[in-house]
Amino acid sequence: MVCFTCGDRQWVFVKRAPLLETKAKLLCRGARVDAEARELFERQNPSKVKRGGLSSGGKVLLAETLFVNFPFYEKRDTPLEVVRDGEREFGVLIREAGEAVCSAEVLQAPDWYDQTVNGFPITAIFTAHNRQLATAVFEDCALFATQEQCRFCVINRSLAKRNPNLRLKSGELLVAALDNIPTDAYAGITLNGGMTTASGRGIEVMVPVVEAIRKNYPTTPIAVEMTPPAELSWIDALADAGVSSLMMNLEIWNEKIREKLIPGKDRYCPKNQYLAAFERALEHLGVGKVSTCFVVGTEPIESLKQGIAEVVSRGVIPSPLAGRYFEDIPDYPFVPDVDWREFLDVVRFAAQELKKAGVRTTDRAGCVACGMCDLIKDLMP
Ligand code: SF4
Repeated sequence: MVCFTCGDRQWVFVKRAPLLETKAKLLCRGARVDAEARELFERQNPSKVKRGGLSSGGKVLLAETLFVNFPFYEKRDTPLEVVRDGEREFGVLIREAGEAVCSAEVLQAPDWYDQTVNGFPITAIFTAHNRQLATAVFEDCALFATQEQCRFCVINRSLAKRNPNLRLKSGELLVAALDNIPTDAYAGITLNGGMTTASGRGIEVMVPVVEAIRKNYPTTPIAVEMTPPAELSWIDALADAGVSSLMMNLEIWNEKIREKLIPGKDRYCPKNQYLAAFERALEHLGVGKVSTCFVVGTEPIESLKQGIAEVVSRGVIPSPLAGRYFEDIPDYPFVPDVDWREFLDVVRFAAQELKKAGVRTTDRAGCVACGMCDLIKDLMP
C-alpha cells in the first residue's frame, strides 16, 4: 500500500495498485458507477455531445495526480466500481473487486456551463476536457452516408437529438461562445470533426473557423484533429490560418484490419497520405506538435508497435487509446476487449521509442495535451 498522509489530505490514497495501472484499467475496462456518484458526473456533459472516436466518459482526477476519462458500464462486465465518498463534496472511491484502491475527485462542471450563446446551451458548443476547450466543428461525417464510417465512431449520435443548426458550427458562433468563457483558465482549444468528400477532407471547414478564433484570440493554442487532405496545400492553408497543433489519427496500422474497421478512411486516406501529411505538417509546426492516435485492441500488438515505431521515426507523437465500448448506443458494433497489461505495454513502448528518437510533445492544445484518454503524457520522456 502506498499512502499519502499529510494533514488534511489524508483522504488521498492509492492502495495496492500503482496509479498508472489504475488509470490503464479504467481506460480498458471502464467502471460501474453507483447512483450517488453518477449524480456528480451528470453535469460534466449536459448536452450529451459525442465528439467522434473514443472520448466520451466520466472525468476524474486520481489521487490528485492523474486525470482520466473512462467509460461507464451498467451492463458490461467490469471489476471496477466508482462509489461516492461521503467525506468529500466531489470525492469518489475507485474499487476493484470490492476493495477501495484509489481516491479520486470528480471534475466539476465550470460556472460558464450555465450560459447560452445565440440561443444554444454553451455546452452544445464547447465542453471542458481537463484544461482544453473541445468542440466538434463538423458534428457529422460523410462516411455515414455510404456506410463506410469507422466502426467505433459515434460522432453522429448526438446530432439526432440536437438542433441541426449545430451540425456545422461557424467561427462566429465559436468566438461568441469563447467570449463567454474565461479562456485564460484553459491551456488550449481542440477542434475536431468528421470527413467531407471535398479535397480538404474537412480542412476546408476548419480553415475559416481557425482564422476567426485566431483573429479574436491571437495567443491561444488551437489544435485541429482531422483526416489528411487529398491536396497537401490544405495543410498550408490551415497553418496560415494559425493552427498550433495537428492530430491526424491513423487508428490502425495493419492494412487488412484498416480495410475492415475503417473502410472509408482507408479508401479515401490510405496510409501513404497520412505519412505525406505528417511531413507537411511537421514542416509548418515542428516536431512535438503533430500527433496520431492508434486504437489498441483492433490489431495484433506487433503490427501496432510497428506503426508506432514508424510514426515516431518521422517525428510524430503516437497516442495509443484503448478501444472503448458504448453500451448506451443501441447496436453499437465495436466490442473491443483490451487487456490493460497489453495497453500499458504498448504505451510504455511508445514512450521508449519517443525517448530513443529524442521526440517530445510540446503541444499545449489537443488530445495529447489533455491526456485524459491516454497515458502518453503521463509517461513522456
Ligand atoms: S473519419 Fe471515421 S472517426 Fe472520423 S468522423 Fe468519420 S467515421 Fe468518425
